Amino acid sequence: MLIGAIEAGGTKFICGVGTENGEILHSTSIPTTEPEETLARVFAFFAPFQIKVLGVGSFGPIELDQTNVSYGNITTTPKEKWLHFPLLRTLQAHFGVPIALDTDVNAAALGELTWGIAKGLDSCIYMTVGTGIGVGAVIEGKLLHGMSHPEMGHILVRRQKDDYFEGVCPFHRDCLEGMASGPAIEKRWGTKGSELQNKDEVWELQANYIAQALVNYALILAPKRMVLGGGVMKQAQLFPLVRNKFNAYMSGYITNLYINDLDTYIVPPGLGDFAGLQGALALAVRKLMNTDEVHI
Ligand SMILES: [Zn+2]
Repeated sequence: MLIGAIEAGGTKFICGVGTENGEILHSTSIPTTEPEETLARVFAFFAPFQIKVLGVGSFGPIELDQTNVSYGNITTTPKEKWLHFPLLRTLQAHFGVPIALDTDVNAAALGELTWGIAKGLDSCIYMTVGTGIGVGAVIEGKLLHGMSHPEMGHILVRRQKDDYFEGVCPFHRDCLEGMASGPAIEKRWGTKGSELQNKDEVWELQANYIAQALVNYALILAPKRMVLGGGVMKQAQLFPLVRNKFNAYMSGYITNLYINDLDTYIVPPGLGDFAGLQGALALAVRKLMNTDEVHI
């Protein structure tokens, strides 16, 4: 049986066809342009395959309340062409198969828990630090939703005292995303993060904001593992810095077998760049089994 998966990102749509055990058989990457053009290419990729179910992890914000008339629509995105776009309805009309939809980061968290670095646990968070900052969570075996999907990239952080950067979030200015996303790095330092690898002060500052966020997530959600991906986290020197600052902020307040070993608590994705796509596949498998629970 073939299962479809789409990681619908703000810069690219990664499409794949795979199996129930997480194997991706075919995949492709399509640049995100306007909806009609992007989806025409998505449909062309899937045309040769008879998929039984489709999982979609989407950029957002998206409406995930099934009782809302705009369920499955992209909502307040700064991408004008996608504003209020009925993503789920458009996919349903084309494919005519059951579709599971969630955020890209919730999907990635589920992917890591099902087949990746958090396999065997019943909770984890997945944080992406890139063009934006997003965080998805599986808690007690379920993807976390409430009045909306969580928006943990926009939490407020304590400003480092010598940091006068105004922040780049169009809504909040100096929220976490405003201070520590890829565009924030580029605006603050005048060049892309990938060209600042040897500048220690860049990564010290970056690690400070990320560690603050992780401490808050740990205190509020108590996940058993934290997976950090996205373009900015490809700077591998960030991991030890983040762990050190996390440790300093937490000050030994929580101790247990998970958090005591930060090398296994704060980790890169086990699925690498495929966390989102395999997560979308995991969403589809769960839909097929008609359950909200993660089977581990
Ligand atoms: Zn914000």
